[in-house]
Amino acid sequence: MVKQNRKNKVLIVYTGGTIGMVQDEHGSLHPFAMERIYDGIPLLHRVPYQIDSMQLENIIDSSNMTPSFWSDIASVIEKEYDNYDGFVVLHGTDTMAYTASALSYMFEHLSKPIVLTGSQLPLGMLRSDGRDNIICALEVAAGKEITVPEVCIFFQSRLLRGNRSTKVSADQFDAFYSYNLPSLAKVGINFDYNESLIRPMPDDEPLIVRKEMETRIAVLKLFPGITSDVVNAVIRTPNLQGLIVETYGSGNAPTEPWFISALEEGIQRGLTILDITQCKSGAVKLKQYAASYDLDRMGVLSGQDMTIEAAVTKMMYLLGNYREQPELMRRLFTMDLRGEVSES
Ligand code: ASP
Repeated sequence: MVKQNRKNKVLIVYTGGTIGMVQDEHGSLHPFAMERIYDGIPLLHRVPYQIDSMQLENIIDSSNMTPSFWSDIASVIEKEYDNYDGFVVLHGTDTMAYTASALSYMFEHLSKPIVLTGSQLPLGMLRSDGRDNIICALEVAAGKEITVPEVCIFFQSRLLRGNRSTKVSADQFDAFYSYNLPSLAKVGINFDYNESLIRPMPDDEPLIVRKEMETRIAVLKLFPGITSDVVNAVIRTPNLQGLIVETYGSGNAPTEPWFISALEEGIQRGLTILDITQCKSGAVKLKQYAASYDLDRMGVLSGQDMTIEAAVTKMMYLLGNYREQPELMRRLFTMDLRGEVSES
């Protein structure tokens, strides 16, 4: 890891979310302007590194997040990449894990930290968790102790790899968790980094930013009793390019002929199908049970131990950038691109 001695510079990019929201006359929360963040944390003026901040043109509740908004965030960071040591993205918690995953694919050979954070209570509220979250995210982004060349999420007391994170609570401060990879750092009195997990610095490769995302994809969550009408309606969606099937256990699905032929029909039409388990931890292992044998035979790809957020955004990224090279694209699906899957 590279130790930083000089006075570091961090750019805060504010995209919206509870952290900067205010209550309207009906008690509902709406995004407000960036200045609220400084009102909420006057201490920001005293941190030992330089902080600049900017907000995107539209600040949103992150339930309105779209791939074109991801591309806007990526463009800001790409433009400012050489001017800062790290970046903090203030973001709503609802779709933060999707944005962190998407950005992780968009930035290849990343050598600086991009840390997403937000809060469960707005900064202006007395018990807000936003203050600590921002201050810790800034410390990571400034590379005070070590440089973490990854897209991460800092929340409550944990630094998590972004594409391994999932929002697990709508009302607890401890809102994010990574089931298949331990935290990159735990924060108490000190920052306790798990250096062996942090991705290495890219050698001399220059940063590559790819912002194309294919949105013509779908997620089909299986449940006992799902009907062929529903499955076929999804698979026959006009122009559908990719389908993620959320299966049971280690990647198992019904073996009934109508289900198998529905998927096969999709694959013959050129649909890319990825198998992700509904389990929170563990991985898809095709052919471990007879109930996944046909999926493997017809060419369904294994999503291994990816989160659904990492899988959706990986599919958008690979279909958006590699569709013209189908062999390579299929290989990339099962490869570890940015630490989103464990070595099998
Ligand atoms: N609805 C909010 C958002 O995701 C929730 C939050 O920020 O925690 O933008």
